[in-house]
Formats: sequence, structure tokens, C-alpha cells
Amino acid sequence: MKPQFSIVGPVYNEEVLIPQFYERVRDVMNALGEPWEVVLVDDGSTDRTPEILDELHAQDPAHVVVLHFARNFGHQLAITAGMDHARGAAVIAIDTDLQDPPEVIPELIAKWREGYAVVYAVRVEREGETWFKLTTARLFYQLIQQLTSVTIPMEAGDFRLLDRQVIEVLCQMREQHRFVRAMVSWVGFRQVGVPYHRYARAAGETKYSFPKMFRLALDAITGFSSLPLKLATWAGTVATASGLLLALALLILRLQGKAPLAGQGLTASLVLFVGGIQLWMGGILGEYVGRIYDEVRHRPLYTVGEILRIEESKTGR
Ligand code: UDP
Ligand code: MG
Repeated sequence: MKPQFSIVGPVYNEEVLIPQFYERVRDVMNALGEPWEVVLVDDGSTDRTPEILDELHAQDPAHVVVLHFARNFGHQLAITAGMDHARGAAVIAIDTDLQDPPEVIPELIAKWREGYAVVYAVRVEREGETWFKLTTARLFYQLIQQLTSVTIPMEAGDFRLLDRQVIEVLCQMREQHRFVRAMVSWVGFRQVGVPYHRYARAAGETKYSFPKMFRLALDAITGFSSLPLKLATWAGTVATASGLLLALALLILRLQGKAPLAGQGLTASLVLFVGGIQLWMGGILGEYVGRIYDEVRHRPLYTVGEILRIEESKTGR
């Protein structure tokens, strides 16, 4: 039977938490009394996660779908694969480390029934996050708001419900560098937030190191704004204008018989200043060109080693 609801959970080295996650999702979903499935995407885990997922599928084949990636592709691609393989009329993406409580899912579904196509969960409180993570996250959201034309609700992560209509559009957006939150906002439709309490990770460690967060931020900015490319024009204007003004000032001083600003110090600082701007612009160009290169190769977004799903086993795969 085709499920009404699909829960999509990215899983990377969550051996301690994944059985609990499944049990809590199962209890919540069974209470709703409609057909459901949970699509667990194993993002190349190196601990016992793959075996545990296989056991969960063996225990409850009617509900548990498992995708094993051939290697680690990252959180955003794991969510993408889950959405590609979900069949529900509504798809709910949720972290599997129990920071997002599955008990909130019925509230998201209630809003969906009211006619909203996207229901995102908004963190009213965040437990167990470092000061550094909270500050960088806030700065990042402010930057995105300034630089791009999409509005990503503050304090909304990837925990959200998406209607089939939205999923169909997302499945057509095959960009390599993905920031799913902004893509969802780009799609449009009626969107609404539901407040929730985000808990501290129940066990294990965050898999989002600072370099990973930095890359995600870069993907978000380059994916939705070309403003950084235009910085070159502004920086060039400022540098040229300063150069002209300086030359003029030197000329006037010379005509007045005063000693002009001279010396290697001034020259060196000018060279460094302009050289620095040029290198920065080269770097920004590189970020975009690199992404264009990734797109034109048209590689698949991820490689799936194995899919465990009840139909496939029935057809004797
Ligand atoms: N995750 C993943 N692949 C990765 C990193 C993380 O699938 O390369 C999953 C992880 O198992 C969790 C979710 O993405 O379910 C969020 O990751 P995490 O909790 O480490 O990030 P944080 O909540 O600290 O931002
Ligand atoms: Mg987490």
C-alpha cells in the first residue's frame, strides 16, 4: 500500500541512537492510523549503523526502507536521496540523532491538513549547542538574508514537512551543491512554521565540524546569490578612485613646494592593498567557476550501494 507519510532520516554513524529513533517514530506514526514509511539513508557510516539498519528493515519490512550510500556524501545529499525515494503524499525530513523530537510530527501533519505545502519546525529553544555554533549560525542567517533573494526562516533547520507537490519540484532541482532549506523556500507555495524545543544530542558527537558548516554556508551563498561576483566592480571603483585622489593630492603638495608623501612604505602598502583585493576576487571567481565545473560534468548526486524495500524483495531482487 502506498504510504500517506514518509519520514526521511539521514543517518551517519548513529549506532547508539538509531534504534531509539525508530521506536519513537514507529509509536508516533502508528498512533496516527494511516500508512507510513521511514526512509533511512545510511550516509556511508563506518560504525555498526549499516547492520542495525538492516536489522530494523528485517524486523519491520512494511515500514522501514533503507538506502545504503556507497560512501559519505553529507547530510544535504542524504536528505535529497531520502526525498527521491519517498513515496508519501507528505514527506517529513528529520535528524536521526533525536535532537528533533518525532513527537512534533503530528503537529506538522495537522498544519499540512490545513492546506500548507511546507511546514517547517522552528526552534524556540536550542539545548546543548555551543556559544560558537549559535553565534556563527545567527551571523550566517543574517548574511543569507542580506545577500540572497530567498528568505530562510531564522531558527528553522531541515526538520520540516513537504507536500508531494514541493517534493516533485525539488526532485527536478539536480544541483550538485545543495542547501535544501533555501531550495524549499525558493519553490514557494504556502509555508508556515511550528515552534518546537530542540534538544541536545542524546549521544554521540555532532558530525557538522566547522569546515563542513563553512562549506554549507558557501554553498548557500553561491547557490542563491551572484552578489559576491559583483564585489569586484565595487572594490575596483574604490581602489581606482583612491589612486586618483592620492595622485592629485601628491601633485598639489608638489606644486606648493612641500615634500610629497614618499617612501617605500606607502608603495608597499598600496601594492598589498590592491593585490589583496585582486586575489580575493580571483578566489570568489574560483568558487563560482568550480561550481559551474561540477554542474557541467552532470555526475549523479550520490551513489546508492543497496536499497532495502519490501517490493524489491518481493520481486526476488
Ligand atoms: N548526517 C549525515 N551525514 C553527514 C553528517 C550528518 O547524514 O555527513 C546526519 C546525522 O546522522 C544527523 C543529521 O545528519 O541525523 C544532522 O547531523 P548532526 O547532528 O551531526 O548535526 P548538528 O545537529 O550538530 O548540526
Ligand atoms: Mg544533531
